Amino acid sequence: MSSKDWIEKDYYAALGVDKSASSDEIKKAYRRLARESHPDHNPGDTGAEERFKTVSEAYAVLGDEKKRREYDEMRSLFGSGAFRRNARGAGQPGGMPFDVSDLFGGGAGGGDSRFSGGGGFTDLFSSIFSGGGGGGGPARPRGPARGRDVETEVALDFTDAVHGVTLPLTLRAPGVCDTCHGNGAKPGTQPVACPVCHGAGVTTRNQGSFSFSEPCRNCQGVGTVVEEKCPECHGTGGVTKTRTLHVRFPAGVADGQRIRLAGRGEPGERGGPAGDLFVQVKVRPDELFGRTGDDLTLSVPVTYAEAVLGTDLRVPTLDGTVTLRVPPGTPSGRVLRARGKGVVRKDGRAGDLLVTLDVVVPAKVSDEARAALETFAAQTPPAAREHLDARVRRFS
Ligand SMILES: [Zn+2]
Ligand SMILES: [Zn+2]
Repeated sequence: MSSKDWIEKDYYAALGVDKSASSDEIKKAYRRLARESHPDHNPGDTGAEERFKTVSEAYAVLGDEKKRREYDEMRSLFGSGAFRRNARGAGQPGGMPFDVSDLFGGGAGGGDSRFSGGGGFTDLFSSIFSGGGGGGGPARPRGPARGRDVETEVALDFTDAVHGVTLPLTLRAPGVCDTCHGNGAKPGTQPVACPVCHGAGVTTRNQGSFSFSEPCRNCQGVGTVVEEKCPECHGTGGVTKTRTLHVRFPAGVADGQRIRLAGRGEPGERGGPAGDLFVQVKVRPDELFGRTGDDLTLSVPVTYAEAVLGTDLRVPTLDGTVTLRVPPGTPSGRVLRARGKGVVRKDGRAGDLLVTLDVVVPAKVSDEARAALETFAAQTPPAAREHLDARVRRFS
């Protein structure tokens, strides 16, 4: 389906970026828009859902350098709008492919040599026009087409990401209307040959000694028109379909990771293989633990006295507790390591829990504590600051 969209849709506008935007700018714009419009953040808001789909679709093309190049090339070739389909709105059976070789007077091997052979154009067009509904159009057999890749984002709880989790994932994707099987005509009726191009899908215009072929404006190059629209899809031949997948997120899955589920994208056409599903993982932060790779991190406040005298600390792990020995004379910021208490991977290896000691200073102390501290200060040498003295003297 993506292919014909390339002519109609301005993916740059969808992401709000300039045509010359760097891949970094595109990625940033996508992340921001995808976050804002994500269905998880906008439950029940179909407008947001629509925006999310648009943004994802745009990024699927612009975020892929090869696809972006092809898209740019396509847009500069077809920018005139002459090939724009569905320009007249819903009255036409959109979503049907037409064969570009017809437009250029014969396929490979014949007609205009600029457009046949040579690989580049033929490959480009066959990939661009591989999608679409089915039926209608000039009757020329086309080969199997791979289904489109689908990209979606899933937010996981911190603990679920660490332990692994299986979640149902509901995908909404365009599909062929079951009522009319994609031809857009009311059941019991059929699309009829376009009265303007007599079913050819192209019209020829003479100008001086040249003759131009262009897609028929009446039927948008399809060759047929629908007289009575299908009530289900309003003549477009396409509907949005919902399907639910159960996706397994492996233990230790990380924020920003992209999981590829081969063959779980959109179904292929005419026997072609299905596309892939890419799931972008977003891990919600935990209120206590942080994470660096397979290690969990935790910050634990200790008093000055505990740091000086030493203590045993009982701290939480993700599944229980662990007791850590703080030796006497431990400095603030010291990291203690609880081995094997981090993220356990599928292969059984586990990271560590890294506990950072944070010596806290009380804002207020009792009179007794103050007296004790003054005694302590009197019996303690000053902190070693000699290395600063030379610089300090420069300004005095
Ligand atoms: Zn026509
Ligand atoms: Zn229909």
